[in-house]
Amino acid sequence: MRIAVKDVGFDPVTLGEAGDRCRALLEEPGGHYVVTPNPEIVWLARKMPELKAALNGADLVIPDGIGIIYAAKILGTPLKERVPGIELTEALLTYAAKADLPIYLLGAKPGVAERAGEKLCEKHPGLRVVGCGDGYFREDAPVLARLRESGARLILVCLGFPRQELWMAAHRNEVGDALMLGVGGSMDVFAGDVKRAPEAWCKAGLEWLYRLISQPSRIKRMIKLPIFLMSVVLERIKHGKADRI
Ligand code: UDP
Repeated sequence: MRIAVKDVGFDPVTLGEAGDRCRALLEEPGGHYVVTPNPEIVWLARKMPELKAALNGADLVIPDGIGIIYAAKILGTPLKERVPGIELTEALLTYAAKADLPIYLLGAKPGVAERAGEKLCEKHPGLRVVGCGDGYFREDAPVLARLRESGARLILVCLGFPRQELWMAAHRNEVGDALMLGVGGSMDVFAGDVKRAPEAWCKAGLEWLYRLISQPSRIKRMIKLPIFLMSVVLERIKHGKADRI
C-alpha cells in the first residue's frame, strides 16, 4: 500500500526498511529503479503525466524532502519518516562493498562521477566501480550498452529531475540485472563539490534552508514549496483524508 501525495504514491518505509527492499530487489532478476521525489518533483508531476507514471512505476518511492512528510501528515496519512536518497545510497554502497556488487556512476558534469568514484572507494574499502559517465549525453544507446557490458548491479543515476525519473522508467529493461537509484545532486556531494547540510540541520528538517543559504539561486525553485503545502491543505479541507494507492 502506498500513501498518495498529489497522486504520487509513496512507500511508507524507514531508511532501514528501504535498504532491505533494495537488497531484495538486487536479488531479483531484471532491471529495477528507485525514485526519491521531493515536493518540487511532485509539483511538476501534476502537469506532466509521463513523470507521474515514471514515479508511480518505480519499485520503490521514498519521501526525500521534509515537505512530503508534512504533506502526508496534513492529508491524515502520515509516512514513517523522511528517507533521504543520499543516505539510502550510502547504506547501499556499504552493502555493495561487502557483497562485492559492481557499481556504475552515471550523471553530473564531465569528470564529477570519476572523482566521486575515487572518494567513494576511499570511504568504502572493497567497493568496485566498474564504470563512470557524465549526465550530458545525447544518445541513450551507447550509454545503455556500456552499462550492460560493465555488469553493474547498482547504478547511481544523477541526471537531475525530471530527466532521471523518465530515463530510468524508459530504460529499466535495458540495463541488465541492476538496481538504479535516481538520486539527483548526490554525485556532486560524493565528489566533494557540494556540501550536504550538517546533521543537526537535517534532523531539524531544515536541509532545504541550508541549501537555500548555500545556493541562493535556488530561491526560484524553493518558492514552490509553500505553494505545494498550501495546495495540500486545501485538498485536505475539500476532500478529507487522502487515499492509499
Ligand atoms: N544533470 C545531469 N544531466 C542533465 C541535467 C542535470 O547530469 O541533463 C546533473 C547536474 O549536473 C547535477 C544533478 O544532475 O549534478 C542535479 O542537480 P540538482 O542540484 O538539480 O539536484 P537535486 O536538487 O535534484 O538533488
